[in-house]
Amino acid sequence: MTRPEAFRRALLRHFDETRRDLPWRTARTPYRVLVSEFMLQQTRAQTAAPYYARWLRRFPGWSALADASRDDVLLAWKGLGYYARAANLHRTAVVVRERHGGCLPRDPSVLKTLPGVGEYTAGAVASIAFGACVPAVDGNVRRVLSRLMDAPRPSPSELRVEAARLLDPKRPGDFNEALMELGATVCTPRSPRCGVCPVADCCRALAAGTVAERPALRPKRPVRHVAYAVAVAVDGQGRTLVVRRPEKGLLAGMWEFPSAEIADSGSGGAIEAAARARLAGLGVGGEGAMSGRRCRPSVRLVPVRHAFTHMQATYHPVVLPCTTRNLAAVAKSGLVVRVDELAGLALPVAQQKIGEQLATMLAGGGGEGSV
Ligand code: SF4
Repeated sequence: MTRPEAFRRALLRHFDETRRDLPWRTARTPYRVLVSEFMLQQTRAQTAAPYYARWLRRFPGWSALADASRDDVLLAWKGLGYYARAANLHRTAVVVRERHGGCLPRDPSVLKTLPGVGEYTAGAVASIAFGACVPAVDGNVRRVLSRLMDAPRPSPSELRVEAARLLDPKRPGDFNEALMELGATVCTPRSPRCGVCPVADCCRALAAGTVAERPALRPKRPVRHVAYAVAVAVDGQGRTLVVRRPEKGLLAGMWEFPSAEIADSGSGGAIEAAARARLAGLGVGGEGAMSGRRCRPSVRLVPVRHAFTHMQATYHPVVLPCTTRNLAAVAKSGLVVRVDELAGLALPVAQQKIGEQLATMLAGGGGEGSV
């Protein structure tokens, strides 16, 4: 069994000498630690870094974030993905202000009651922001511990017990970060650099020659394929309609072109029919003549594919001409905006790509062809 003292010494010495210069490692406050932990869920440090800097300029503390509109919050998160994190962070700011006097709770069990804060985030924040002696097991730490223990599929409770046993009570926050950093930079999934690993002497998988098999791969879940007909209504002034997604679930609260799920093998005619039916459901008649000259009627744009963690979505956009009066009539169920204003909305990546195609088409090019 790995001796904790030797392990801590080797790990923290390596961390002190090699730690990456990341923006959330300076001027730490509980707010900043929580923001960075939300951003780092499912996202690499290099990707999150510019978003973190922009976020702090836009929302420097709890009050600024709690006061912000949902659209402002989603817009600041735009491009980072997994938008539920932004919504949860926003809700957390409100809860911190209203129920905790503007101070993040220190107790991990109370932290876990905040929106979007689970076991890992509570441990990371409590240890890094407040020096609490609690472990934090994320995906990187799971992999490192699985190899150190030479355990193919350690359970969450086994991982927590081992992480707590190794944890340095004098520097719990640094220790947790050091273990995560080891997983991100040395004990990587496919090519672990055991030759330079500071804790190689403690690694059972290395001794047993089983590093490549630890942790054992989880059986892959089958990926669901879903197709959508997307109604891109455009009036003669180059304005289009977007609607708000439901408050819960995938891409909650973001804007999108109206869409309807269709059979994966939908023909061009079926796609347009579904898109028109969706618009009709919103009260927009799609048959009105275009009053402008720049947009051909009923044009299919290039399909856009997007991979979510649990499904592969294909969006089939169809540009449908509408009169200005049609669009104005539905302003209550959605938002009527000029195409160049789409960039200022919290649109998911796939919807942004549709908007870009539309802008190109209105400028005089693009489109797959008339339906
Ligand atoms: S020796 Fe290799 S497998 Fe073991 S912890 Fe270090 S990098 Fe990971």
